[in-house]
Amino acid sequence: MLRLQTKTLLALASVMLTLTLVITLASLASFRDFSIRAATEHTRTAAEMIRVALTESMLNGTMHKRDSLLQRIAQVDGLDEVRVIRGNLVEEQFGNGLAIETNPDSIDFQVLQTGEPVYTLIGGRLSPEFRATIPYVATSKGDVNCLNCHAVPEGSVLGAVTLTASIDHMRTAAIMTVSALILAVIIFALISLAFLRRMLQPLVTTAHEIEGAVKKAKEGDFSVRVTQRSNDEIGAIAQHFNSLADGIVCKLTEIRRNVAHLVQSSPRQKGDLLADTAETVSGLVKVAQFKQAIEEDETSEEVFQRISEVVRDVFHFPNYSIYEVDHNRKVINTMDVDGIAQAPTYWCNPDINEKCTACRAVRTGHAIDGRENSLICRSFSIEARQSNRTYLCLPVIQSGGVGSVVQLVLNTPAEVEQAEAARPLLESYLREAAPVLQAKRLMASLRESTLNDAMTGLRNRRFLEEYSDTLVNQCKRRESAMTLIMLDLDYFKTVNDTYGHDVGDTILIDLANIFKANVRESDLIIRYGGEEFLIILLDTDAEAGFQVAEKIRKAVESHQFNAGSVLLNKTISAGLADFPNDGQAFWQVLKFADVSLYAAKDGGRNQVVRFTPDLWVGTEKY
Ligand code: GH3
Ligand code: MG
Ligand code: MG
Repeated sequence: MLRLQTKTLLALASVMLTLTLVITLASLASFRDFSIRAATEHTRTAAEMIRVALTESMLNGTMHKRDSLLQRIAQVDGLDEVRVIRGNLVEEQFGNGLAIETNPDSIDFQVLQTGEPVYTLIGGRLSPEFRATIPYVATSKGDVNCLNCHAVPEGSVLGAVTLTASIDHMRTAAIMTVSALILAVIIFALISLAFLRRMLQPLVTTAHEIEGAVKKAKEGDFSVRVTQRSNDEIGAIAQHFNSLADGIVCKLTEIRRNVAHLVQSSPRQKGDLLADTAETVSGLVKVAQFKQAIEEDETSEEVFQRISEVVRDVFHFPNYSIYEVDHNRKVINTMDVDGIAQAPTYWCNPDINEKCTACRAVRTGHAIDGRENSLICRSFSIEARQSNRTYLCLPVIQSGGVGSVVQLVLNTPAEVEQAEAARPLLESYLREAAPVLQAKRLMASLRESTLNDAMTGLRNRRFLEEYSDTLVNQCKRRESAMTLIMLDLDYFKTVNDTYGHDVGDTILIDLANIFKANVRESDLIIRYGGEEFLIILLDTDAEAGFQVAEKIRKAVESHQFNAGSVLLNKTISAGLADFPNDGQAFWQVLKFADVSLYAAKDGGRNQVVRFTPDLWVGTEKY
């Protein structure tokens, strides 16, 4: 690539060269023309003088001495040869004359024939000479009448004079002049080049500096400034470039500071300012897209799955855990391990599942960085620690407490570095996820509360409506039976009437506890109506269910309920039916349990009645 300065100088040099060439050729041409014209005039004058001298000689009778006359004339400076040729008519009248006068060459011959002068250059390029052969034409007009002496017709060619003149001195003069011209042009060119160079210097240097600064800027370094060398347009370009760079740095720094503030990290001091900022901004855009996605998700499980995808696909960590903290039960649920949802705890001691405070991040509420000292958290898996793995646990703060924890398991020093770089943006993701997880949890507990009875803490009838299909499917899948026990306190109305509603309420709460104490954790206790309950014993047929119902009946019978100042004894009646042995439809079996309960009431209360088809026959009476 030719530089600007070289290009300009080359252009100027070629202009000068062309100019020199044109001047030289023009000068030479005009010198040649001038030389020929001057020589023509010169020889014409000499020829005329010779004619006059010859005429004089003729008149004075000294014609015989014409030879010496011609020789003397030939010695005139500038003339080389003077020769006269006699024409035929003169020869006829006066004889051949001198020997030289009778030997015409081709040009003489031509002139004698035509009566027209011939001017020509002879002698080649190295020693050029000008030759003029001019005819003498007989005329009766003028001072001397030629026809007085020459017996020839008017206008006849009497002879011709040939004059040869050297034009060497003219050539020398031309060469000298042209040389002087060329020298002048060269000096002018050199001065112009030097001047132009000086003029171009600031432009070229500024252009070089801008080129260097732009190259650096492309690498993200905007610190290079251009020196302002002059107060002209070039100086203005330098100044504008500098203020543009200042503006970019200022704005970029501001953007970077704001972006860093958004991701809550300190801006990097080194590196590619533009690329760093662009990278962080696109990271933030992804965070915003993530936020939108999780807000539209239905459950917190889906949100955890998205966090898992972010850790794996955006930050490229292969090993990690995501935990959810249940503060009510003080346990931790493992939501994801290495991208597998609901997988068993792997990277921590499973004790954390039972006791959430065993997790240091949950206990302290801040990030736990095992990169310096992997023993900082004792719950990190011993096997993982022995294989030189380390960890970074980031808590997700929800409503002032740790709602979840994301644990990065770092296998190599490269992953340790990667975690350091990824942390601010990953924390941005978690900050966005926190309120969404909180909202989802709230929604879930709200939904849960609509399925529970607030007073006794038991499930309610709505729960049964939603859950009955699942129960039936479970039963069918396991090919087992379940027993439905319908229970109702005997003469409960009198309690309310006698001791008031509050006492009635405590009795219902006590009753719920008696039920809980007498069934398995997996069984379902539902407050079906006011003081009517349904207990569903899973994997239990009517026979075994009857035993449980009896156990409950006895427990109630023997329990002393606190009615403020006095203790009360109450009894309960129960009716039970078995799904699917008593009926193929769940709600039908429920109805059978209900009629059995009424049979128990009818039978005198404080008893359990197992459904038999004959009970159904007489239902219309209930
Ligand atoms: P029996 O069942 O033995 O035929 O007699 P009962 O007196 O228990 O009669 P019934 O089952 O029809 O009475 C239901 C009573 O339970 C009516 C209502 O005052 C009372 N009850 C229903 N729900 C509640 C409650 O949440 N709190 C209190 N204190 N009483 C309730
Ligand atoms: Mg009742
Ligand atoms: Mg009752």
